[in-house]
Amino acid sequence: MGPMSVTLSDARVVTPDGVHDGWLTIEDGRITHVGSGRAPGAGLSLGGRTIVPGFVDIHTHGGAGGSYPDGDPESAAAVAAFHLGRGSTTAMASLVTAAPETLARAASALADLCEQGLVAGIHFEGPYISKARCGAHNPALLRDPDRGEFRELVRAGRGHVRMITIAAELPNAIDVIRDAAAEGVIAAVGHSDATYEQTLAGVEAGATVATHLYNAMPALNHREPGPIAALLQDERVTVELINDGVHVHPAMLRLAMHAAGASRTALITDAMAAAGMGDGRYPLGPMTVNVENGVARLAEGGAIAGSTLTMDVAFRRTVREVGLSLVDAARMASLTPARVLGLDGEIGSITVGKHADLVVLDGDLNVDGVMKRGAWVRRPAGA
Ligand SMILES: [Zn+2]
Repeated sequence: MGPMSVTLSDARVVTPDGVHDGWLTIEDGRITHVGSGRAPGAGLSLGGRTIVPGFVDIHTHGGAGGSYPDGDPESAAAVAAFHLGRGSTTAMASLVTAAPETLARAASALADLCEQGLVAGIHFEGPYISKARCGAHNPALLRDPDRGEFRELVRAGRGHVRMITIAAELPNAIDVIRDAAAEGVIAAVGHSDATYEQTLAGVEAGATVATHLYNAMPALNHREPGPIAALLQDERVTVELINDGVHVHPAMLRLAMHAAGASRTALITDAMAAAGMGDGRYPLGPMTVNVENGVARLAEGGAIAGSTLTMDVAFRRTVREVGLSLVDAARMASLTPARVLGLDGEIGSITVGKHADLVVLDGDLNVDGVMKRGAWVRRPAGA
């Protein structure tokens, strides 16, 4: 083994096929061995702590007091650094609805962060979403999908626009979903008032993700199944879930799991600026949000406005509150969202050959260490 080699030993290693008492070796930033039992040779003992793959958050707006893009690259970099410290070794930057020229400017600023490897891609959550289901998005700035405008927005992101949320029932939505799919931009359906049939038409046109399933869409109804039934049942769709105990009841999370399985269910944070901060007043795009007891609501009207969640808490809740296994929770927090981004060959699981993006958790599943590309971002205490 070369000088760039490190062995993490005495650990519970969570791989896609189980939890192993054992060890793993990292060389030149990649996982080169995963073994059970005692590690050969000296290693860095983790004293029984748990290693899971680095989290992949495909929907996040901010944290640590900052928001994407803020026009200020340092503040945006601080958001990425905050979530990295909580275990998100890969995270997208999501933009709430704004005027097209504002979004284009933001995308261009975020493209720089993508090129620096701080952010995995840009997600436009709007402006092509439903007025009836706009949540914390400014209704005055919502627009009907427009193919030319969409092309300009993608161009502004210089190849880093990876996702757009669209309400499938809007005029021209099907065309823009088709364009997005053809350009390699993930079309996500959400913030939508669509029927079951309209949602399926969106999926038929190429949509592959449900933006925070259950939230900002019609509820399940046995006579009007709506988007939820369509999105859960279609094998082509991966559903995002905000598991903060506020947005979705644990029983509905289990329902989604039973219908779609861990391989089509992705944990997201949808975090806004207040994540990691105290209660108070925060901006969310052009809107003002009050955070009370960690719950973010629009100052005007009181709609739930993003979350203060981080991926480590989402992961822990999935195991402790929802009752899923470590293996399923790791899949939902890492491998499934990595596959959504087309990165599952490189990241998303503890598998030989993949990047050493890892999270070390203590006995209470709190983050104790974070490694990205084989380098500690946060070194485990005492290790
Ligand atoms: Zn969002």
